[in-house]
Amino acid sequence: MAPRSRLRPPVLEPPAAAGSGQPCSGSMASKTPVGFIGLGNMGNPMAKNLMKHGYPLVIYDVFPDACKEFREAGEQVVSSPADVAEKADRIITMLPTSMNAIEAYSGANGILKEVKKGSLLIDSSTIDPSVSKELAKEVEKMGAVFMDAPVSGGVGAARSGNLTFMVGGVEEEFAAAKELLSCMGSNVVYCGAVGTGQAAKICNNMLLAISMIGTAEAMNLGIRLGLDPKLLAKILNMSSGRCWSSDTYNPVPGVMDGVPSANNYQGGFGTTLMAKDLGLAQDSATNTKSPILLGSQAHQIYRMMCAKGYSKKDFSSVFQFLREEETF
Ligand code: NAD
Repeated sequence: MAPRSRLRPPVLEPPAAAGSGQPCSGSMASKTPVGFIGLGNMGNPMAKNLMKHGYPLVIYDVFPDACKEFREAGEQVVSSPADVAEKADRIITMLPTSMNAIEAYSGANGILKEVKKGSLLIDSSTIDPSVSKELAKEVEKMGAVFMDAPVSGGVGAARSGNLTFMVGGVEEEFAAAKELLSCMGSNVVYCGAVGTGQAAKICNNMLLAISMIGTAEAMNLGIRLGLDPKLLAKILNMSSGRCWSSDTYNPVPGVMDGVPSANNYQGGFGTTLMAKDLGLAQDSATNTKSPILLGSQAHQIYRMMCAKGYSKKDFSSVFQFLREEETF
């Protein structure tokens, strides 16, 4: 049986579906359809990992082409979030912004129009924690449960099922959420009340932006001082300046294979999305009267990059942005 909480009544379960891959924590008998809304860079591979674990899907995306592969694979594609809620009592949303999440939940054909009592709604988008809290209140009024579960790890980790999920919500529901999330991630961490998953995610991404800019500055300075970039990266990575941006996702073309800097900064985590996350950090810092001097600077840098033609490139293109600048 899937883990059940006191908030949600048990759902009658059909006979086990033929699944593939390793089971996550759920048994075969728990494989009722799962709704998935938002099949973009992240949602697409995440939904595929649920399929690999034998979960039938009910799919919706505003961009019909995003659903094509799933329709061809025999999954149910429907025409609104409300239709998803009518057919599935567990739904995952993976959308770009707070506004998109509000639309998918509370819009004219949103999830809340058809949500069944006892449904579990998990939002994995990175959005404003105060919006997660508002959505949770609306969902609770309908007798259902909302959890925020944003992710860290990027497209590669989404493909390999190695995302980290930061989960906020009622603790008794965590086991039920973990059953699904562990099909898509290797770390599923309970953070506390609803909104705390977003809080953890925003702090992580603010630090990531600062460390990426710092790595790009150090690499650019070293290159202009005559150092070979590969050698400089090697030295940083055996020294105290080492960080994820230097040793796993180096922003300088030619230093590492298989990262966006090796592919003209295509794919990966877009500069627009990083600017959005830094905006969320800025708002949260204002609301909590927290000083984020470097976080604010990082926000301005990523906003400038968006205005200067970098919006579709990976966020590590900050190296290219600095490279093109010369100062006195
Ligand atoms: P994306 O833009 O590639 O995909 C989002 C999808 O949602 C698109 O297919 C779009 O058509 C769809 N969509 C938008 N509004 C919709 C609505 N109202 N109803 C249904 N579908 C809608 O974005 P992504 O890169 O997959 O990112 C999704 C979320 O994950 C963002 O919040 C992002 O910050 C976060 N995230 C992304 C990465 C990454 O590396 N890309 C890493 C960690 C977290």
